Amino acid sequence: MPATPARCPECGAAWKEDLDCTACFHQMLAWETEHPDLGRVHHLMVLSYHLQHPSLYSPEGLAYARRLLDDFVAGGASPPDVRRRNRQAVDSGRRDFKITSRQGRAGGYPVPVAWTMTAVDVVAGGPQGYLANVEAWARAIHADLRGAG
Ligand SMILES: [Zn+2]
Repeated sequence: MPATPARCPECGAAWKEDLDCTACFHQMLAWETEHPDLGRVHHLMVLSYHLQHPSLYSPEGLAYARRLLDDFVAGGASPPDVRRRNRQAVDSGRRDFKITSRQGRAGGYPVPVAWTMTAVDVVAGGPQGYLANVEAWARAIHADLRGAG
């Protein structure tokens, strides 16, 4: 009987041997360290990974991350734009929630999202395809979340 490949309970990615989503995340970080040029999509990579593993966020953090993705993908914002805006929000005390999940306070989607691209796909494209693949991944997540409502 052929072994059924394990799937990520959060993003649904089919894991290859020894390559689960956490391992993919660390592989992507390692490529960004080895090839500093790849670091320019770091913000999209971290955001994409966390949006597909929403239990890493608090419910408020997830809502914030979705707005951030929309700013980057649809609004064309750059990381400095967002940092500037965040600084203003933090200075004025408007951001009064925790981004990361705490016990019993994890983010999630009301209905499961059918993701068209996952961290496993990005890693499969290797470091040479990394920049284009991370950008495609972020755009796919934006579209998938729109489709899910
Ligand atoms: Zn996953």
